[in-house]
Amino acid sequence: MLRPYELPMDTIAAISTPIGSGGIGVVRISGPTALELAARVFRPDPSSLPSHTARHGALVRPDSGDELDDAVLTVFRAPKSYTGEDVVEISCHGGIVTVRAALQAVLDAGARLAEPGEFTQRAFLNGKLDLAQAEAVNDLIRARTDDARKVALRQLDGALSATVSSIRSRILGVIAAVEAAIDFPDDVAEPDPAWLRGEIATASESMDALRASFGAGRIYREGLRVVIVGRVNVGKSSLLNALLRHARAIVTPVPGTTRDLIEESLEIHGIPIVAIDTAGLRATDDPVEKIGVDLAHRSIESADVILLVIDASQGLHAEDTALLARLSGCHVILVLNKIDLATPSPLTGEGRGEGEVSIVRTSATTSQGIEELESSIAQIAGASEMGGDGVVVSNIRHGEALKSASESLCHALVTLDGDQPIDLLSGDLAAAHGLLGLITGETATEDLLDRIFGEFCIGK
Ligand code: GDP
Repeated sequence: MLRPYELPMDTIAAISTPIGSGGIGVVRISGPTALELAARVFRPDPSSLPSHTARHGALVRPDSGDELDDAVLTVFRAPKSYTGEDVVEISCHGGIVTVRAALQAVLDAGARLAEPGEFTQRAFLNGKLDLAQAEAVNDLIRARTDDARKVALRQLDGALSATVSSIRSRILGVIAAVEAAIDFPDDVAEPDPAWLRGEIATASESMDALRASFGAGRIYREGLRVVIVGRVNVGKSSLLNALLRHARAIVTPVPGTTRDLIEESLEIHGIPIVAIDTAGLRATDDPVEKIGVDLAHRSIESADVILLVIDASQGLHAEDTALLARLSGCHVILVLNKIDLATPSPLTGEGRGEGEVSIVRTSATTSQGIEELESSIAQIAGASEMGGDGVVVSNIRHGEALKSASESLCHALVTLDGDQPIDLLSGDLAAAHGLLGLITGETATEDLLDRIFGEFCIGK
């Protein structure tokens, strides 16, 4: 059982369903006195109910006994519950007033309002989930596409944790052999260097395979960042609207309207996309517009894909050519917009030195070419490689831990190749082992855990 720090012993409660109108709303209670508290707010007395049973009854105020709602109460006794503690879920009629009244009754009966993610944190502390699985719960809640859901679910199933744990145990085997030889030089022979090399290389290759999935995995989790740039009035906002198929960005014929960045989430071919509409990239003295232009330049740096929009009726300007040269090395789609107004002159990505500029002709007004644009974006995201059954690393925290662990193992291999004393391997092996433990949580600090669970919503 994982107990990195002291388990809280009080009983917590929170609304676990979204606030708003709905058929039912659920108040969840977890902790040693969950059933006792439930008995103060529910008739008939549920305290002797067996685990995994539900009872229909009346939800009442603990002080006056006044009836609040007709409800169903479900009992999950420790340790067979989400948190590993006694859990009671009260399903009452959905709607802000009733669900809040139900929560208030439970708090008045003696429960403490749960912190964000505290139910899942308790599940982690009780060994019901490891850290990667706990994070997958949040990813699942926040998944914006079906593929993102599948990746999160696979992580929740423990696929990533199992792979990481098997690499960790291989490294632990090497550490044990090395430490035994160091501690008992007279009794234990030094491990065979070929065996050591083989074990470390195998662990390293497994980590590389996981890291290779990270590019696609990060996109599943956080979305592909598509930044729309170009001169003012070429149709950037209109293009975003055409992609969204609804009007959110302000479209106006007056140049310089989109002064801030507008971020929109959408889905293209199953890939979550964060589309960012920027201010027109023109030199300006207007201080407000200048902020927008600066933001646009900065957002280019974090882009996965850049849509450089050009007014087809006006052709390529010197500013466009300069920007294109600056974007060398980025995935750029040159969008010739407003083709309904003009037949664009033939354009190629030549002059930029490499062939990674694709060209798409669109009309944001008539939606002509929007599907081709979507296909080009999906192609860059590597849509075809996504959605396989393999284990996918989607969390930047996991990606970073794998990267550092990989570096430690590389260093260990260099040490081995240099025929250095095996004592020098210990530090790198222990570092790799510890770094991998950050993913599943064995070596996570209290601060890290608080940060991770703090990102959850209340009630989960
Ligand atoms: P931005 O400054 O680049 O964001 O440009 P907007 O999206 O605000 O568009 C500027 C003007 O061009 C607006 O009047 C739009 O209606 C118009 N516009 C945008 N795209 C097209 C298009 O494909 N065809 C035509 N005919 N007009 C367009």
